[in-house]
Amino acid sequence: MRAVVLDLFGTLVTAPTPEDRARAASRVAAVVGSDATTVVSYFGDTWQVRHDGTLPTLADLAAHLVRAVDGPGAAVGPVADELRTLGQARLRPAPSVVYMLKSLRSKRLRLGILSDASAEILTAWPRSPLAGLADAAVFSCAAGAIKPDQRLYRRICDELDVLPDQTLYVGDGGGDELRGALTAGMAAVAVRRRGPTNALAFGDTDWSGPILDAAEQVPAYLAERA
Ligand SMILES: [Mg+2]
Repeated sequence: MRAVVLDLFGTLVTAPTPEDRARAASRVAAVVGSDATTVVSYFGDTWQVRHDGTLPTLADLAAHLVRAVDGPGAAVGPVADELRTLGQARLRPAPSVVYMLKSLRSKRLRLGILSDASAEILTAWPRSPLAGLADAAVFSCAAGAIKPDQRLYRRICDELDVLPDQTLYVGDGGGDELRGALTAGMAAVAVRRRGPTNALAFGDTDWSGPILDAAEQVPAYLAERA
């Protein structure tokens, strides 16, 4: 293997729970002057357009949200700021994950991130401790496609300058990402979803391939396969 491509939510950082989403919604609701239930519904109803490239920038996303909840135009900037803060809070990895990524880097593996992510994550990414550990990151809202769209897998391989058959894909399985990786010609291994058992996941499908308890086991898994 020359590269490892990792999913973000549920793999390197925790996937949000319904409670996390409700807390985020109340904060956004306070800023936009609407009630939290409306904002929760917004998040629930708009997964596709927030992730598929329809709303590629934080400004697009904030404007869409404010319009959808009938908020005032003046709230767009403050909502964008709040979303950025929420995005930053979601991109704090456990020390054991940082250690694992450093360990892979020390073996001269190229590291990529492939994430179905909305614009506040894209915006928050450069300041995440994870950003400096990855050689490339592809986010769905910027790439204009969601998993398992094959363009995403080609794009991350291109950015890492590796071939799919030199690449191990690691993810908790949301968005049918593991089948997508196999279709792209990568090897793939599942990890048990990181975070509470009620964490939100989208597009889960069955997986009969190898499963690790956590991303921290990837170095040992690679060593075994070598
Ligand atoms: Mg995931």
